[in-house]
Amino acid sequence: MDDRWSRISSTNNQVWWESLSGVGERRFGRSASSKNTVKLYAMTCGWLSADIGMMLGRAEGHIHFPIPAYLIEHPKGCVLFDTGMHPDCQHDPHQRLGEMANMFHVDFRPGEEIKSRLEQLDIDPASIKHVINSHLHFDHTGGNELVPNAKIIIQRREWEAGRIPELMEANGYNATDYDHGHLIQQVEGEYDLFDDGSIVTIPTFGHTPGHQSLRVSLDGGDIILAADACYLRETIEDLHLPKLVYSREEMIESLLTLRRLRSRGARIFYGHDPRFWKQVPQAPLEIK
Ligand SMILES: [Zn+2]
Repeated sequence: MDDRWSRISSTNNQVWWESLSGVGERRFGRSASSKNTVKLYAMTCGWLSADIGMMLGRAEGHIHFPIPAYLIEHPKGCVLFDTGMHPDCQHDPHQRLGEMANMFHVDFRPGEEIKSRLEQLDIDPASIKHVINSHLHFDHTGGNELVPNAKIIIQRREWEAGRIPELMEANGYNATDYDHGHLIQQVEGEYDLFDDGSIVTIPTFGHTPGHQSLRVSLDGGDIILAADACYLRETIEDLHLPKLVYSREEMIESLLTLRRLRSRGARIFYGHDPRFWKQVPQAPLEIK
């Protein structure tokens, strides 16, 4: 593992679905459990609508989908996996997103941005020390600015792509989302955040050059936060890829990796699946 540190200069199924229902009974609270374990909470930082072909190539129709962010409570501190959209998207998406705004209808209200979501849990966003970004798209890094003291953990391939104009253009990156002077930790492949196996990045390239998912080991078993390596349940079940993909070959390989993890018992959390999301307990309820 060769971790490079740098500072940027400027600026499976139905059974599982049913098993989720009613599992998040415990309220958020750091003193409520005596066990020294990791806890996972889901937050919804707004919604977007788009042509469903964007998620399932050649499919027709529209899809209204959630923008998830996750809070992981670890004995060594709270960790975020992705930060949703920037609150500017609530008021003037065209100003914030440029041409990208033509592809989406933004449904994002005050109180849904990551800062408010954390405050609703009595967590000061300034106290968050670790943000793991799946990739650099606006609906995953837009809230980074609101978590000012975090170190960003991201795959080296993704971070480098985010600084190369041609790749920024090809992948729809906007440095305004991620260029805020955070400490950046570039990792390669699997990276065990606290060296205890509880929070481990899983490289799932293809959606973008250096996309990563995250394995979170709970008492109830492993959960894979797939992010955009797997938008929807259909993506992994049918290997049905989106219309726009950085590398189809790498994305298929990543989906096969997710299938292997699932076959060993891990539960896959899809990146933007509205039907799946209805079954996911929302913070302050805990995912178990
Ligand atoms: Zn996304």
